[in-house]
Amino acid sequence: MHIGFLGLGNMGGPMARNLLKAGHSVTVYDPAAAAVAALVEAGAHAAASPAAVAQAPVAAIVTMLPAAAQVKQVYLGQDGLLAHVAKGVLLIDSSTIDPLSAREVAARAAAQGNPMLDAPVSGGTGGAAAGTLTFMVGGEAADFDRAGPILAAMGKNLVHCGASGNGQVAKIANNLLLGISMVGVAEAMSLGVALGMDAKVLAGIINTSSGRCWSSEINNPYPGVLDNAPASRGYSGGFGAELMLKDLGLATEAAKHARQPVLLGAAAQQLYQSLSLKGHGGLDFSAIIKLYQQDQPA
Ligand code: NAD
Repeated sequence: MHIGFLGLGNMGGPMARNLLKAGHSVTVYDPAAAAVAALVEAGAHAAASPAAVAQAPVAAIVTMLPAAAQVKQVYLGQDGLLAHVAKGVLLIDSSTIDPLSAREVAARAAAQGNPMLDAPVSGGTGGAAAGTLTFMVGGEAADFDRAGPILAAMGKNLVHCGASGNGQVAKIANNLLLGISMVGVAEAMSLGVALGMDAKVLAGIINTSSGRCWSSEINNPYPGVLDNAPASRGYSGGFGAELMLKDLGLATEAAKHARQPVLLGAAAQQLYQSLSLKGHGGLDFSAIIKLYQQDQPA
């Protein structure tokens, strides 16, 4: 299949490579010339603009952009996809954005005869490279089925979450919980150690007791508890605190529109904001534990 791909960053670059590996023909666009050159080296065709991708004989277009502002520009802008794409071409946005923007863009696409899915992912850059991402997909069931062979080349779990925007709803609800649970684990681990417990023993107790969760078991924020966790290598790699802050912002903003309280989510957002202010936004989000510890000499 001939597929267009826009947004060749940390996630989009490896995802587009996996489409090539699966035997698809891929036409790419990104304002960063180096990102385009790397994909062309891997066998992709370069396009000079979103319009040029839309004008190529593609059956589907995938986008993986930073945020809603870029998604709206790329789809709705004068030189954008909707102004130039042929009727019937399937549009798939895998960026993490707010559900209302996702629904707005999908409605505009549908009105001109282009089915559109929101298909945000979890699994991080490792999952993008390995082709093991989870896709949370919102849109018509028939369009989800049509997207299957494309998404299967980049991911392992493909979940239809319901109507347009629901993929984004699933993504931000999960990350809201993840952001909160990491704060909880950081608080509990720091308290236990301050009161005299050994960190590894405490983590072992939590992980065989009712406090157990992904943040305690797989990505424990206390240094030295898990050899392979970011906490044991200065919080490098992993899922950046800045990205967690973005996702909590999406959740609290969406909650405002739904008049739905997100008491702990809003508190977690403020905590990650404080971490960012201290200059730690580039670290894995488990570095939130630094707010519970005395400053270490650099
Ligand atoms: P990134 O910043 O590495 O990549 C974004 C790419 O989009 C860049 O190459 C940029 O040049 C390109 N871009 C910007 N404006 C563009 C435009 N107008 N047209 C085409 N391309 C444009 O970001 P990323 O880490 O790849 O994340 C992409 C999306 O995936 C975000 O919405 C993010 O929240 C989400 N996400 C990221 C991760 C992660 O671990 N990095 C995990 C899950 C979801």
